[in-house]
Amino acid sequence: MIIEISKVSADGSVFEGEEDAALLDLTAADLYAPEGPIRYHLEARMVGRRLVVRGTVEVRLGATCRRCGCSFSTFSRESCFLYQYETREGQRDVDITPDLREALLLRLEPHPLCAPGCAGLCPKCGRNLNEGPCTCGPGDAPAGREWAALDNWSPHEPFDPPPSARR
Ligand SMILES: [Zn+2]
Ligand SMILES: [Zn+2]
Repeated sequence: MIIEISKVSADGSVFEGEEDAALLDLTAADLYAPEGPIRYHLEARMVGRRLVVRGTVEVRLGATCRRCGCSFSTFSRESCFLYQYETREGQRDVDITPDLREALLLRLEPHPLCAPGCAGLCPKCGRNLNEGPCTCGPGDAPAGREWAALDNWSPHEPFDPPPSARR
């Protein structure tokens, strides 16, 4: 997406529209595939020689759940897109495409799940446990659930050692 500086007023100008999601450069090897165009609602203003662009960008994506294997649709949305660009005397436009791309890709979960509580597949019979329990009986942990405790783990939380490890 290219912003023409002549169209940007000092009070701010709104740029709204769509861009081809091909600019995300997602390939078949990626976990996500675009299901529609990139939509943007941005406000741009000149502060001195600096172009300030802020607003919302989003794209609808298809993904495959890492636990149950189902296909589902999701959004990558950055509602606090904020970038600044120094412009030179005589410069006509600014290409913000790389930043749109980065903002949307950074929002993607590295392990897509159809729902935060997806129950996954039974490791024995392969039944999708989201559709109900199977008859394999208790004692068989559903696939993927051994790591369920990690779902709520935040890398920003300090590690709390077990009491036995404390002095
Ligand atoms: Zn799932
Ligand atoms: Zn089963």
